[in-house]
Amino acid sequence: MADHDVDLLVVGAGSGGVRAARIAAEYGARVMVAEEYRVGGTCVIRGCVPKKLLVYASRFADDFEDAAGYGWTLNEPRFDWPTLIANKDREIARLELAYTTTLERAGVKVVKSRAVLEDAHTVRLVASGTAIRPRYILIATGAAPWMGPAIPGIEHAISSNEAFQLEELPARILIQGGGYIAVEFACILAGLGSHVTLVYRGENILRGFDDDVRSHLRSEMEKQDIEVMTGRTVSAIEKTATGFCATLSDGHEVTVDRVMFAIGRLPNVACGIHRARDRRHRVDREGGAGPAAQGRHLQGIVSPAEGDFVGSRHARADEARRRWHDRPRGGSPHRGRGRRRDDSAPRHRGEDEGDEG
Ligand SMILES: Cc1cc2nc3c(=O)[nH]c(=O)nc-3n(C[C@H](O)[C@H](O)[C@H](O)COP(=O)(O)OP(=O)(O)OC[C@H]3O[C@@H](n4cnc5c(N)ncnc54)[C@H](O)[C@@H]3O)c2cc1C
Repeated sequence: MADHDVDLLVVGAGSGGVRAARIAAEYGARVMVAEEYRVGGTCVIRGCVPKKLLVYASRFADDFEDAAGYGWTLNEPRFDWPTLIANKDREIARLELAYTTTLERAGVKVVKSRAVLEDAHTVRLVASGTAIRPRYILIATGAAPWMGPAIPGIEHAISSNEAFQLEELPARILIQGGGYIAVEFACILAGLGSHVTLVYRGENILRGFDDDVRSHLRSEMEKQDIEVMTGRTVSAIEKTATGFCATLSDGHEVTVDRVMFAIGRLPNVACGIHRARDRRHRVDREGGAGPAAQGRHLQGIVSPAEGDFVGSRHARADEARRRWHDRPRGGSPHRGRGRRRDDSAPRHRGEDEGDEG
């Protein structure tokens, strides 16, 4: 054991990494977690949690309208986006602190640094330059928005990451994507007062969901004045004096204040994981979700077994948190390393995947 600085080094403090680190520490392992951005990861910082706060905010518009029918007289309701974002940020900061405290109380050492594998046995903490030799390494680096092929003006498009930090509510926004994130953002922003155009390449939104739900939801969205344009994609974005002009694949032009893409997410593989590969197999630097990135072909101590990194279509935050719980109890956490559930099918990149598309 003395040969190792820690028993387990977890790369990434998102839903999967936080839970894995805490549970391993509770079994008595010496655990370090390295996080390059903010503890809590996508779900807490720029995913489920802030999104739900925005969903709640967007629903008040209907409630105010309904209230009048029940005899209530209200002053003209006014919505202030900066107030919502500031309060959302305050709540996220509170949660980040709560996650950090929980980890530290469990005995986990939290390091705010990017971590990069130098080989299958060494991890470099970029902030300090320190090299750590853990007994086991868990890759829980999650995924990041995929912006699609390089179309002209792609640099003008934002992802959900930036959408949570906009300084003002766009009066007009085009959202490309047909998955749950695109649809949720369309409804949130329309509820708050934006005019939303949703552009999706397929025939109908939410591919893979129940067909009745898909068509019902689409017609409800259209009643909410969301313009749903299917069977086309954005092929160019041009900056104009007042905003942006998006040209669609059928030649249509849509003038908006913002263009957002929510068309898929790719695993964060740029953490040196290819240096831990078994020579017989390639770790795909782009997608990372092939068999090589799923643990079977990585050298013994590295386990990319958590959350969005492994690309399960169903690996959402709750799933990522649960995984370590499902491992065999008793003994040290080392013994359960790498066991995977049958539903962790590889995620295929691109549109229609649950996360952003
Ligand atoms: C807009 C949006 C809404 C969502 N809504 C829901 C929802 O309602 N319900 C739900 O269940 N799921 C939802 N999800 C999905 C959910 O957020 C993810 O499935 C979950 O966060 C995945 O957890 P994870 O631990 O695999 O990765 P993440 O939470 O992404 O954590 C990975 C962490 O690793 C860090 N990292 C990456 N590389 C390095 C490195 N080299 N060194 C150090 N740190 C690194 C990252 O900064 C990040 O903090 C949503 C996602 C998005 C984007």
